[in-house]
Amino acid sequence: MIRTLLLTAAAALLMTACSEEPAAREVAEDLDAKAARVARELLVVDTHVDYPYRQRETPADISERTENHNFDYARAKEGGLDAAFMSIYIPSSYQESGGARELAEELIGMIETLEADHPDKFAIARSPDEVEARFAEGLISLPMGMENGEPIDGDLANLGYFFDRGIRYIGLTHGQNNHLSDSSYAEERQWNGLSPFGKEVVAEMNRLGILIDTSHLSDDAFWQILEISRAPVIASHSSCRHFTPGWERNISDEMIRELAEAGGVVHVNFGNGFLTEAANRQGMKFWREYEAAGVEGAEAVAWREAYWREHERIWPTLADVADHIDHIVDLVGIDHVGFGSDFDGVGDNLPTGLKSAADLPNLFRELLERGYSESDLAQIAGGNILRVWREVERVASEL
Ligand SMILES: [Zn+2]
Repeated sequence: MIRTLLLTAAAALLMTACSEEPAAREVAEDLDAKAARVARELLVVDTHVDYPYRQRETPADISERTENHNFDYARAKEGGLDAAFMSIYIPSSYQESGGARELAEELIGMIETLEADHPDKFAIARSPDEVEARFAEGLISLPMGMENGEPIDGDLANLGYFFDRGIRYIGLTHGQNNHLSDSSYAEERQWNGLSPFGKEVVAEMNRLGILIDTSHLSDDAFWQILEISRAPVIASHSSCRHFTPGWERNISDEMIRELAEAGGVVHVNFGNGFLTEAANRQGMKFWREYEAAGVEGAEAVAWREAYWREHERIWPTLADVADHIDHIVDLVGIDHVGFGSDFDGVGDNLPTGLKSAADLPNLFRELLERGYSESDLAQIAGGNILRVWREVERVASEL
């Protein structure tokens, strides 16, 4: 979209002011070309894509261009996205109903099927080395992360089991407290951070080489993880609380400093509600009403569509995403920030100019315009997460 606007602007310049402003026009066109090249050449990793659960609600063949999924093969190729962590997402409702393990198996199975059916397009990646090797082969890597540790089910042996199944990060809980940890969304806290068993889980994740994802956890749980973990940790899809004051789901400046100090990375969430205070307030109101409606499957999709027909939506832009990246870089430097889009997990609540994986070059363009060098972008795009992942592997090999 930005590109279309620029081309239109360039065309207007050509017609009306060609002789006066050639330099400005050339700069704009060069940046577009450079952003496209950077997106294509760099190893680009996104640490949170909700394809598996979305596929359950609204199935589509992502080996081709889908109608409206945020992540599919065509869009990833177009945007230069090379590795997308697939979220093995267990809704909190499974903590009461049971069936968390079965759901995890089903979602992991979907990714295995994708790899088996399209070996020329997708490959599950279980290590940073594999991500790099698949990138060199032109394949899109699909590492897996678990969102809500409910399937661990009180047994440390299950961590080894899910590691063997390919899970490489775990966010201990999601929207409610569970048997491992308190949640940032829970109104009442059960453990004042991690449960005693949750603390054992953190140590076992270090031992196995599973990245610890702090997104969705309460602040107390975050601080306890930083104390216990022998390896750096990530926030797989959290933005800066600085822009959404008081909202615990985003990460505070103090937490960003300490996470960086320990060598970790914050992966900025692109969802509208994570980006600005106004969009956040609107999003929270939506969620309260959505949860109260208690709808599922196709009915849930229809409910959401009807809601947004009746409410005028606030749309942040991709410049807001860049503001979050700038903020983290200002606080702790270039080594501790990455992308964690939440594609296919936030409906169409995505900022103008960054609606899908195909739009990543727009974000690179914005960052280039703000003065980031190509080596800076290499860090943000993939270098930082691969560094942390290798460090997690190294710590595991020592324990
Ligand atoms: Zn999430």
